[in-house]
Amino acid sequence: MGKGGVGKSSTVNSIVGERVANVSAFQSEGLRPMMCSRTRAGFTLNIIDTPGLIEGGYINEQARFLLEKTIDVLLYVDRLDTYRMDTLDEQVIRAITNSLGKAIWRRTLVVLTHAQLSPPDGIDYNDFLARRSESLLRYIRSGAGIGKREYADFPLPIALAENSGRCKTNENGAKILPDGTPWIPNLMKEITIVVSNGSKSIHVDQKLIDGPNPNNRWKKYIPLILAVQYFFVVKGIRRAIHSDISNGKLDDWEQRYRDLVGSGNPVDQKVSSSRNPKA
Ligand code: GDP
Ligand code: MG
Repeated sequence: MGKGGVGKSSTVNSIVGERVANVSAFQSEGLRPMMCSRTRAGFTLNIIDTPGLIEGGYINEQARFLLEKTIDVLLYVDRLDTYRMDTLDEQVIRAITNSLGKAIWRRTLVVLTHAQLSPPDGIDYNDFLARRSESLLRYIRSGAGIGKREYADFPLPIALAENSGRCKTNENGAKILPDGTPWIPNLMKEITIVVSNGSKSIHVDQKLIDGPNPNNRWKKYIPLILAVQYFFVVKGIRRAIHSDISNGKLDDWEQRYRDLVGSGNPVDQKVSSSRNPKA
């Protein structure tokens, strides 16, 4: 999961070594989630690519695709070469938390694509990576509601990816990161570490997707709140106004207005005469 255009589909293709997911440099419409499965050495790997899952801060009806599936690991994908986080990042992170539960972040590996970058202004690659990771993790923790004391429970490891066909390769033809690490085996290793970190995998059922909707929780109290407002606020203000009127106390502006147009209440007169011309 992740924002559009960050390289989710490309990463799926890199992992399986085939073009199974549609990659597009521009936003494409009507894309559906898709699952691809590969079996090796008795293990089956099912990867789900979820394009356009998030709209207006919520996971849209495409989340149905995940119903009754079990998520062993969430790859939260973003670009390494992004220099700032914005509200869309927060929306995506909140939507994932709302729909899959906070516990999904125990099962998350953050994947940063475009890893073969030259940092700007001669910043050292590792410094750049550290700063980018730090700012992304800060956003994830705040969007997911992970407090300082829970940091150890939500390790949020980071793996790098470079999906470009121009990615450097080593003598075995494996795509490598600037430090020479073949990134695909490294990504798979990180995935296995997350899967075996002792936390539970996430089973997606309807209850989980519906979530504890915080917008509805207080709805049943609305009539009560209105009643309280009426009796304590509206009635109180009315009483104050009535007592001001009977005391003959006028505000400065009101006094000035009366001085200007004479007594009576011309505003009231005007309103009633326009409603009822005969009056
Ligand atoms: P998605 O919307 O998150 O699925 O992103 P895509 O996989 O469709 O990629 C969007 C664009 O970014 C495509 O033009 C990809 O070729 C390009 N892209 C994806 N990952 C990388 C990467 O690691 N490095 C570079 N240079 N380009 C990438
Ligand atoms: Mg895609």
